Amino acid sequence: MEDCLFCKIVKGEIPSNKVYEDDEILAFKDINPKAPVHILIIPKKHISSANEIEEIDEALIGRMFTVIKKIAKDMDLKNGYRIINNCGEDGGQEVKHLHFHLLGGKKLGISMC
Ligand code: AMP
Ligand code: ZN
Repeated sequence: MEDCLFCKIVKGEIPSNKVYEDDEILAFKDINPKAPVHILIIPKKHISSANEIEEIDEALIGRMFTVIKKIAKDMDLKNGYRIINNCGEDGGQEVKHLHFHLLGGKKLGISMC
């Protein structure tokens, strides 16, 4: 996707502060962190949102969660963390490339909206 911000990050056209990378998955620090640790985990393949995940993506999406677990361990989030996905307009999704937010490093509030 030519106009997609996160595809540009995948291609290296826009810099990012990477914390994890493999053939299919990239994770980098959020530019506007909402917690001491705020990482975005994305598939390198362009998937617009959680609502566009197809059956063929199931293994990839599953693996994203083992990557999140690894990053949480690397970041020393022993006390837990939060994984967030904003999906679509009402979900508050700003960047239309699937991403999971990994937040931690402090006791997070309970607000969901
Ligand atoms: P969402 O509202 O779920 O679509 O979240 C998009 C996230 O991307 C926000 O938390 C932004 O701070 C973050 N973001 C936007 N541009 C960049 C960038 N160039 N590098 C890292 N994070 C970004
Ligand atoms: Zn994209």
